[in-house]
Amino acid sequence: MSAPLIDPFARPISYLRVSVTDRCDFRCVYCMSENMTFLPKKELLTLEELDRLCSTFIRMGVEKLRITGGEPLVRRGILTFFRSMSRHLDSGALKELTLTTNGSQLGRFADDLFAAGVRRVNISLDTLDEDKFARVTRWGRLKQVLNGVDAAQRAGLRVKINTVALKGFNEDELPRITEWCAERDMDLTWIEVMPMGEDIDSTARIGQFWSLGDVRATYERAYTVTDLAERSGGPARYVRLEETGQKIGFITPLSHNFCESCNRVRLTCTGELYMCLGQEDVADLRAPLRETPDDDAPLEAAIRAAIARKPRGHDFDYSRQRPGGQVAGQMPRHMSHTGG
Ligand code: SAM
Ligand code: SF4
Repeated sequence: MSAPLIDPFARPISYLRVSVTDRCDFRCVYCMSENMTFLPKKELLTLEELDRLCSTFIRMGVEKLRITGGEPLVRRGILTFFRSMSRHLDSGALKELTLTTNGSQLGRFADDLFAAGVRRVNISLDTLDEDKFARVTRWGRLKQVLNGVDAAQRAGLRVKINTVALKGFNEDELPRITEWCAERDMDLTWIEVMPMGEDIDSTARIGQFWSLGDVRATYERAYTVTDLAERSGGPARYVRLEETGQKIGFITPLSHNFCESCNRVRLTCTGELYMCLGQEDVADLRAPLRETPDDDAPLEAAIRAAIARKPRGHDFDYSRQRPGGQVAGQMPRHMSHTGG
């Protein structure tokens, strides 16, 4: 073990999110434009390089690894990577290996993921209506994702559904989605839509910004809602619906209420490290990774230097609307770049 990673605000960095590809088999309207230009293959870290980077972070105290994208399960050979990472679960250094997926490939991969030590998976799903699903994902088919959810549960994976809250789009589906999750014993988390990507008007293209305060109020009209103290070091807050016993999460990335306990950094598929989802500052880890293939010391030094620059918080704020509807703090990069 190397000395643990602690940032300038005394926050231990124990959680690494890794985007293993910028590609995806869907084109969700709030995430990607219709005609995305993807990175040339040579820009990407190889799976071996990703392994070395993740293993270095684990040696420096990262205990939770979330694989994301783009769609992580469309990256060729990704299972080899999961299998290889499972050695850190076996050694006890890594407490959790998990992924966020659109679910489309889980029919193929769920059993193998479980065998590699994955126990939980987040599946993104915004609607249970076939036509609406096709509209919001542009290229997705609901049936394939529902098969993926089935496969995950059959394999023994605990499933959490992530739903982006979109006013006028899935507002009316709140009871149905909630009941569907209850019936299947799946957790549910609502995500507030974030202003990402210069060519994506994430609040107007489909549905509108639906604040999670309003989502909560909708629950309160139908259920007894109790706040839970549980924290994940991230932007999620949880409540319990007393009538069903369900735990519902709310991810409000635009609020600042989680930055003080932020324990995470994000690695892109090209080896850039983002110290904050809402800030542009980035550290290049690919150069030290490639320059000294047999010596991890420069890589460790680069990681420490990056963590020393982790900002206190981010600048998103819907309440500071600029003329023309631009949201203050809007990020020019796509969510698929950093994996959310
Ligand atoms: N493809 C995988 C998926 O969809 O789960 C993993 C990557 S995706 C970028 C991760 C999460 O980010 C998804 O739950 C997606 O709904 C969410 N997301 C994408 N763009 C978003 C935005 N503009 N605002 C809020 N959430 C967004
Ligand atoms: Fe793909 Fe996930 Fe982005 Fe949708 S949210 S386009 S599934 S990366």
